[in-house]
Amino acid sequence: MKIAFIGLGNMGGGMAANLVKAGHQVRAFDLSQAALAHAREAGCQTFASAKDACAEAQAVVSMLPNGAIVKQVYWDEVIGHAPEGAILLDCSTIDVATAREVIAVSEVHGYQMVDAPVSGGIAAAAGGTLTFMVGGSDEAFARAEPILAAMGKAVIHAGQAGNGQAAKICNNMLLAIHMIGTCEAFAMAHKLGLDPQVFYDIASVSSGQNWSMTSYCPVPGVGPKSPADNDYQGGFAAGLMLKDLNLAIDAAHAVGAKVALGEHARAIYEAFAKDNAATDFSGIIRTL
Ligand code: NAD
Repeated sequence: MKIAFIGLGNMGGGMAANLVKAGHQVRAFDLSQAALAHAREAGCQTFASAKDACAEAQAVVSMLPNGAIVKQVYWDEVIGHAPEGAILLDCSTIDVATAREVIAVSEVHGYQMVDAPVSGGIAAAAGGTLTFMVGGSDEAFARAEPILAAMGKAVIHAGQAGNGQAAKICNNMLLAIHMIGTCEAFAMAHKLGLDPQVFYDIASVSSGQNWSMTSYCPVPGVGPKSPADNDYQGGFAAGLMLKDLNLAIDAAHAVGAKVALGEHARAIYEAFAKDNAATDFSGIIRTL
């Protein structure tokens, strides 16, 4: 299949390479020349604009920084430039309202479209092991699913347009909350005289067990290998967690959902990211 790919950064670069490996003809565009050079090395054909990449494409995948850029790219470069009937897949993490608006406008212009944000970082993008949470009609999902499956290990239909983004921000708000809770528990256990490994052995098989503890432990040398074992580098950056928390809290306010802990988590990550935006989000334990 001819697939246009727009946004070949940390995530998109690896994802586009996996589409090539799956046998697709990838028509790539990014504003960055370095990203385009990497894409060529991975076997993509590169173009001078997103419009050119979209011409002749049967599918368009985008992996862009934020909702304003997604809107601008779809308005100016995709809608009316990709052949009518193409399936459009936006994998960026953006706000629910913008995702729904872009999908609605695309449909008016004769396209089917899904929002398909991902769970998993740069390593999962490169390794083809992302989880995609997908919003859109049954028909759009059926067309998007095999394309996404070439880039991930799980593709889950979350319901109507925008529901992929809704699932993503609710999940990441919960992740922020249990990471902070896990960090607080380890720091307090230490101050009360408990060895961190002993606390892990107890809590990991007790009711405090959670993913931040047993899959991504914030204490170096405890639990499976995690960014804590690499000086809190190379995982999920605190700045990106703050981006997702801002999207989550804005969405909560828009629908009148009460998220007291989510708001507190945002305040904590806002303070942390001021000087540590590139540090892994589990580095919050250092402030305790
Ligand atoms: P990135 O900044 O590395 O990549 C974004 C790319 O988009 C850049 O190469 C940039 O040049 C390009 N770009 C910007 N404006 C453009 C335009 N108008 N036309 C074409 N290209 C344009 O970011 P990333 O880490 O790859 O993240 C991409 C998306 O994935 C974000 O929405 C992010 O929230 C989400 N995400 C990231 C991670 C992660 O761990 N990095 C994990 C999950 C989700």
